[in-house]
Amino acid sequence: MASHFFTSRHGGVSEGAYQQNNLALHVGDVEESVLRNREQLASIVGEIVFMKQSHGDSVVVVDETTSFEPAADAMITQRTGLNLAVLTADCIPLLLWDTSACCVAAVHVGRKGLMNGIAVKTINKMKELGSKDIRGVLGPSICHSCYEVGEDIFDQVTAVFPVAGTRSKTGNPSLDLAHALQDQLQKLKISTARADACTCEDQSLFSYRRDGVTGRIAGVISL
Ligand SMILES: [Zn+2]
Repeated sequence: MASHFFTSRHGGVSEGAYQQNNLALHVGDVEESVLRNREQLASIVGEIVFMKQSHGDSVVVVDETTSFEPAADAMITQRTGLNLAVLTADCIPLLLWDTSACCVAAVHVGRKGLMNGIAVKTINKMKELGSKDIRGVLGPSICHSCYEVGEDIFDQVTAVFPVAGTRSKTGNPSLDLAHALQDQLQKLKISTARADACTCEDQSLFSYRRDGVTGRIAGVISL
């Protein structure tokens, strides 16, 4: 049976803009602090694999623990007990599992990921591995009231995902990426739950839009 969770910024040793539980090495935090935060998490849940995310569309299958972080925006595993982590601060951490416990996946879906179909590619790969009935959960991300974008980006995204187009709390064009992702998955008959929290509004979460220099939370899943 798959299990999953999302971290918050509470509980780690990072300081300043990264306080407290930053789990990302690439954001300018002290490496030793990040590694301590990761070790603390691993001491609770077991081995965790992180990835080098780039808003790309690479999906990798990971079946062993490694200190090497695969360059990808989605990881799948069939190995029981191996935790997969996706790091975010406004983007959507999407966690997927198969009800027959064939495999699980952690996916990084931002605006670029929605457009490049990273979630669909991950699902196709899960099906190749034998998944028949996939479910998912979208962790905390920036909400449509906060995620204002310029007209050009608004037009680009809504041309492909009309349901993403909305207005922010100040009335400017904004995007509801989580709604668009859920709609994209629903068309593949995959039902998903969605966390209510908005990273930009909830001070217990990291938000790139709100703070610029900041840490990353993790969405973690294992079989
Ligand atoms: Zn918000």
